[in-house]
Amino acid sequence: MKGMCSDQIMGGGKVLDTSALISWPLSELRGSMIVSSQVGELEKYSPMRADIIHSLGLVISEPSRESLTTISKLAMETGDMTGISPTDLSLVALAHCRGATLVTDDYRMQNLAENLGMNWRGAVMNGISETWRWELKCIGCGTIFDSPDSPSSNKRELKQCENCGSALRLRKK
Ligand SMILES: [Zn+2]
Repeated sequence: MKGMCSDQIMGGGKVLDTSALISWPLSELRGSMIVSSQVGELEKYSPMRADIIHSLGLVISEPSRESLTTISKLAMETGDMTGISPTDLSLVALAHCRGATLVTDDYRMQNLAENLGMNWRGAVMNGISETWRWELKCIGCGTIFDSPDSPSSNKRELKQCENCGSALRLRKK
C-alpha cells in the first residue's frame, strides 16, 4: 500500500533507520516500519540479519508524496539536505505521515524531526538536545550557497564553489 498515509492504520508505532535495524534486539523490531530501500542496505551490511528480519513482521512502507515534499522543503531550509541520503529522507517522511516515532542516531534526521515537533528517539545514543541550521560555505572565497533541492546518495560529495573552484564545507549558522 504505497503512499497510503491518509488511512493512518498504523498511527503511532516506530520507524527504524538502518542503524537501529542492525543494532536493536530482534525482539524490539517486530511491527516496526521501514522503507523498501533499507532492505537492500541491510542485505549489504548484515546479510544474516536481513534473512532474519524477513520473518519478523517488519512493515515495509513508503511515505506519501505530500510528506516527502514537506520534509524536502524543510531539509532545504535547515541545510540538512546536504549530506542526507534518499533513504533517510524517506524515513523521516514516513514517520511524519504515519504519526510514528522516528528511531535514529543520525543528527540530520533528528534535526528534521525536532523542527517539525515529531516524536523521535536515538537508537543507541541519546541524540541532539537542540536544533540547528546549516549553511554551505566556500572555504576559498567565503560565498554561501543554497541547499541542494534533493538528497545525495554520497554523503561526502559536496560540490565545488562555482566562483573559485574551492571546496564547500557545511557550517552551523
Ligand atoms: Zn569560492
